[in-house]
Amino acid sequence: MGQVEIKSRDEIALMRDAGRVVREILDALAEAVAPGVSTHELDRLAEDLIYKKGAKPAFKGYHGFPACLCASINEEVVHGIPSKKRKLAEGDLMKLDFGVSMKGYFGDAAVTVPVGKVSPEAAALLEATRESLHQGILQMVPGKRVGDIGFAVQSYVEARGYSVVRDFVGHGIGKQLHELPQVPNFGQASTGAKLRPGLVLAIEPMVNVGTHKIEVLDDDWTAVTLDRKLSAHFEHTIVVTEEGPEILTKL
Ligand code: MG
Repeated sequence: MGQVEIKSRDEIALMRDAGRVVREILDALAEAVAPGVSTHELDRLAEDLIYKKGAKPAFKGYHGFPACLCASINEEVVHGIPSKKRKLAEGDLMKLDFGVSMKGYFGDAAVTVPVGKVSPEAAALLEATRESLHQGILQMVPGKRVGDIGFAVQSYVEARGYSVVRDFVGHGIGKQLHELPQVPNFGQASTGAKLRPGLVLAIEPMVNVGTHKIEVLDDDWTAVTLDRKLSAHFEHTIVVTEEGPEILTKL
């Protein structure tokens, strides 16, 4: 944490490398998602690929989190712990949240992946959440403010009858996984810290079909929707440039 840091050109080049590795691994994990696969197997694959690419896991050991991958299914919002017992089933909505550090810099991204054929309700939620992230990213231009991001995400989501999780927010990212500023997926336009070239943020809307309220299960990690209805999550690491947003976790 500490202050809001503006990254230099050299630092952004390093973060581009970290972001590329996050994307490559996340894509490989998404491809491995299928009915019958356990979330533990996905975590093993993530760990193998991390070391093959010369990176380090960002989440393993972070405040004691026991795995490289956060694997959350259906009503689980985020921070699901991979398990040998938890096997994916046709129709599940699988959230993969994943980060690495490389050469001292972090990258962080998340995707929601349909397991086989999902319900129209699940597919619509997935698409709306993906698009809400895009709407947030479009705000990442010099002169706008952090509140513009949250406002854009929230407006998009709520206009479609969904709700935005309040208890988890996006964040600055760089030499640490979580830096200032916090980036809520809700809020007022034209408020909060000003966006300047070199500011790197992880924007990560979590969108629920029902209530925005969540609770954390007895494992002290897994966050689930209070009404146990579906949730979806997308995240990118993005840098503000003079020319607009550059997504670092995109190939
Ligand atoms: Mg994040």
